[in-house]
Order: sequence, then C-alpha cells, then structure tokens
Amino acid sequence: MKSLKPRVSLHQAECFRLLQERFHFFDDTAARCDKLLKGEYGETRVDEVLSCFFDGFDGIYISDLRLNIDFQQVQVDSLIVLDDCVLVFEVKNLSFDLHAADGLFYMMSGEPFTALNDQLARLKKLLRAYVAQFDPYIDVIVYPFFINDSQCIHGMLLRGDVLATSNFALVLAKYRRRFNWRSTVPLVNHLMKRSVPNDFDKKMDIDYSKVTKGTYCSVCYNKVERISQRKFRCLKCNTDISTAAVISNGVKEISRIWPDKPITTKLVTDWLGESIDKRTIQRVLSKNYLLTKGNYEGWHYK
Ligand SMILES: [Zn+2]
Repeated sequence: MKSLKPRVSLHQAECFRLLQERFHFFDDTAARCDKLLKGEYGETRVDEVLSCFFDGFDGIYISDLRLNIDFQQVQVDSLIVLDDCVLVFEVKNLSFDLHAADGLFYMMSGEPFTALNDQLARLKKLLRAYVAQFDPYIDVIVYPFFINDSQCIHGMLLRGDVLATSNFALVLAKYRRRFNWRSTVPLVNHLMKRSVPNDFDKKMDIDYSKVTKGTYCSVCYNKVERISQRKFRCLKCNTDISTAAVISNGVKEISRIWPDKPITTKLVTDWLGESIDKRTIQRVLSKNYLLTKGNYEGWHYK
C-alpha cells in the first residue's frame, strides 16, 4: 500500500507535548490539548496498524484529509482507495464503554451517542455523494475504528462494520489484494482537489521567557541528566542519549514551537539551560546544520 501524505501533528498538540513538563498551560488549554493528543495518538496507531496489515497489497492510504464539499467541511481521519471502493476510517480513542446496535452507538446509560452517530452519518452522506460524482459504482464504506484496547463496545459483531483491534483483521481481510494501483489515481485526484488546509491548526503563542530551560527527553519529554562528557540519561525511559542528540533535539524543539525564530548558538545554549558549553553546541550545529548567515548574536543555522 502506498501512503500519499504523512500525518502532521497540530501545532497546539505539538507545543503541549513538548512543553507539558516545563510550561504552565491554563487548565482549559491543557484539557483541550490533552484531548487532541489522545486523538492524534489513536490516529497514529491506526496508521501503523493499517499500513502493516496492508503491507504487500495495493491501495492508496491518505491520512487526515479535510474536504470542502458543497461548502461543507468534512474531516477524514484515514482513508484507503482501492480499485472498486473507498474505505473510510473514523478513529476513536475513547476510554468509556459503548453499546452498538443497528448501526448506532449508545452510552452505557442507554442515551444515544448523538455526536458520534451524527458524525458518521454526515461522513457517509457527504463522501458517498462526492465519490458518486466521479463514479456511482464505487462503494464508500465508513468504518468507526475504536483503537483503545481497554474500551469495550458491547453488541459489536465480529465480522460487522464496527472495528476494534480485536476484529479489524477479520473484517478487512477481503480488501487485501493486488491490482494496478495506477488505476486509482484519477479518484485520488478527485478527492485531493477538494482538499483544504487544516484550519483548526491555530498557532499556539508560547512566551519563550516563561518556559523552563534545560535538557529534555525526545521520547517522554521529561528532564534528562548529564552522566558524562558525551552522555545524558533519561531516568524515566532509562535510556542514554548522546550530547549531540540532546543538542539536535533542542534545535528541533525550538523550530517546532517557534518556526520563525532563527537558530543561533546563543539561543540553543540558553534553551538547553547552559548545561552544555557553547563550544560543543557550536561544533554540533556547524556539523549538522547549514550555516545561512551570521550576525552579532552568533550564527544562524537552518
Ligand atoms: Zn525519556
């Protein structure tokens, strides 16, 4: 299976992930970002699960597709274009149990889960109509995919149209096949021409001066401690990280949070909390980054 575009993390989610241990987020921002991260984590897991399952078979995988159809915007978490159908996945990473019956979802109290039912109905309606404009014989199948293993969907059928990690392989096995993937290009183009940028991705304004500086782990985002001249250790992950990797990680953090900030030796030294001397930072930067221009502050790297 070919993947058309990699999933990109929202700026807000990215800032929250990188800075949760060292910046004070307001409670409502933290709650909102936490939800975003949970959603992104679920979507990324589905990307991995599906690309692994369809490895060696044909199809085009598109993640996070936002379509503007008839002045309505619809967001698709993941989608696979096959030779005669389109599989659409609505990913849910929820921690509460649900009940499924007759194509609808209910809370365990018996209340209909209206937000999800409406979302799925809207996805089906808009995507089916739009794909039918291209070819009315192409099927559009919308699968809700519950990725959290600890969540239970009562009443869900083993070979039904509700997916979880326990049954997706059984349900999707019939779509694993070989065909000339080029035959899907016109339909992929039809979908992509309605694709719009993600307008939920508002830039998060982080005040540089209020962020705690220091050396942090690129996996768990906790502090890493220096154990020798060339090594740091993350006590949470229990892994060793080279000084050069800690510096490169610092550069990545700055450029993700403040994409417009020029990277200078002075800035990186300050960002890493001055735990690594300026000369080492300068050496790593000049070895790994392209020097673009210099000024009184130091050197700019790209
Ligand atoms: Zn760690």
